[in-house]
Amino acid sequence: MNTKFDIESDKGNKTSAIRDIMEDSGYKLTEQRQIIADYFLKSAEHLNAKDIYNDLKGLNIGLATIYRTVNILKEIGVLKEVVVDKLSYYELKIYTQKPSHIHFKCAKCNDIIDISKNTEKYLQLIQTLKNEQEVTIWDINTTLTGICKNCREGDNA
Ligand SMILES: [Zn+2]
Ligand SMILES: [Zn+2]
Repeated sequence: MNTKFDIESDKGNKTSAIRDIMEDSGYKLTEQRQIIADYFLKSAEHLNAKDIYNDLKGLNIGLATIYRTVNILKEIGVLKEVVVDKLSYYELKIYTQKPSHIHFKCAKCNDIIDISKNTEKYLQLIQTLKNEQEVTIWDINTTLTGICKNCREGDNA
């Protein structure tokens, strides 16, 4: 189960905020890029370029445009990239209530789940490492792999 958040209420504002961020960074929010940005604003999922391509089929957006757009959105800080098994997934980085979280990937259904509850000790450990190693940490990219609850229950049935 993914963390859901309510963003539908002022999606229009968020789209125009993303447009501002893009233009400030020297990019244009073309119609196709806007569709892709809106798609992320509506989803709490972790999506890879092919998922987006399949979901937006019929809207005439090429895979190359999707790759380029998610890269731009990542570069300007709108999306966060999560790399699992050498595949890049993207999730919304701004406008989400999600705290720093760990990812879990199910090896059976390929679902990526956010683990953000009871992670205080983990975050503390990172804080300790940060202090001990005297480094600045920008991002946390930890992915655990295994079998999700749904797939485990399916196995037992
Ligand atoms: Zn699963
Ligand atoms: Zn996540």
